[in-house]
Amino acid sequence: MFKKEEKSAINRRGFLKTVGAAGIGTALVSTRLFADSTPSASSGQAAAKDANTAAKDPNAVKEQRAIPMREFGNKGFKVPACSLGVMFDAEANTAVLRKALQLGVTFWDCAYAYGNGKSESGIGIILKEQPELRKKLIITSKSGGTPEELENHLQESLKRMNTDYIDVYYGVHGLDNPADLTDELKKWAEGAKKRKLIKYFGFSTHSNMADNLTAAAKAGWIDAITTTYNFRVMQDPKMNDAVEACNKAGVALIAMKMQAKRQPAEKETPKEKEVMEYFTRKGFTEGQAKIKAVLQDKRICSACIGVGRGNIEHLITDVDAVLDERELSKKDLAFLAEHAKKTCDGYCAGCASICAAASPDMPYVADVMRYLMYYNGYRDAEMAKQNYAGLPADARAKMISADYSLAESRCPNRLPIAKLVKEAARKLA
Ligand code: SF4
Repeated sequence: MFKKEEKSAINRRGFLKTVGAAGIGTALVSTRLFADSTPSASSGQAAAKDANTAAKDPNAVKEQRAIPMREFGNKGFKVPACSLGVMFDAEANTAVLRKALQLGVTFWDCAYAYGNGKSESGIGIILKEQPELRKKLIITSKSGGTPEELENHLQESLKRMNTDYIDVYYGVHGLDNPADLTDELKKWAEGAKKRKLIKYFGFSTHSNMADNLTAAAKAGWIDAITTTYNFRVMQDPKMNDAVEACNKAGVALIAMKMQAKRQPAEKETPKEKEVMEYFTRKGFTEGQAKIKAVLQDKRICSACIGVGRGNIEHLITDVDAVLDERELSKKDLAFLAEHAKKTCDGYCAGCASICAAASPDMPYVADVMRYLMYYNGYRDAEMAKQNYAGLPADARAKMISADYSLAESRCPNRLPIAKLVKEAARKLA
């Protein structure tokens, strides 16, 4: 249940006013959900009930819609079409988790490293208060390292979250290279499943995604992947084939990084204003349209909503995009595809093997671009700095003086790598 002070913090009238100016369907945030913090997982039935209610009272549907559910690969169960990226200090911000519950977002994605462990311990607080919620939640966590390190991290994650199992465990947090899907990783994953510590196993990826997805589809032991997937990346035929291969192999795909901001992101260019105005005229925010574009690809089972450092209004606006039943038209999708083409310069597409091969002494270019995006695009300086500090010290030391001319000439999106690396060092070091 909501605590008194949290209720007032999320004053309904206040946020309707705020978000109403920001895009679609704030009215879709239902009164029922405000009163019920334990939404049912059987949203198919809820949807049917909504349809019946709507037939009698056209206004009532707005009060009762639930998050649509989608098949999780070929595993025979469904997950909400959006999940919450718990990348923040959830211990200090349990209100966001409670709000997600109210909205029916019962799929939570966290990691051993997020918020220095406070992502997981925030979930632990909720589960200590309401252990009965565990059955309703689908929890993801991720880590990496040797099987021994994974085992230690997993045990610690279970303790932090006050649970004895994790639904989906990613044994590689940010897979760059399919060669890291080793037999020893497979063996550990199978053992953890047998011991009922995890239900499903997979990895997350934001570099060389197409190669990683293709390898996972062939491997036969990867159940799920959280991957960068957005209106830009989906234009790549190689990525489309990889998504198709996963879909055929029954690997569940969760999309992340759907906003696909360019670098530098401080200023909106006229082309970006154009896309914003186009969708505003249709009643969406630009961000909502980008989420819709991803979810219109039915091969994606869920869209992971990142809420920065725990922004409730951001969560509500994004969930509204998922609740809203209107689809983007072919013309809208073509407009986004054209926008992706016109503005690809400055967007790091995660094709790390290209720049890493061109500058073998400095194989972290794609990582640095992503951390800079956390800083400029997500406005999350803390997370950006933490990640940057995790790069090997010698790489950070020689980063500014390295020669990126070959990498720049091969970069398909013509990123000014040398300039951006300097900007990253200035902002993140
Ligand atoms: S910097 Fe260029 S080549 Fe390297 S990952 Fe980004 S888009 Fe690809």
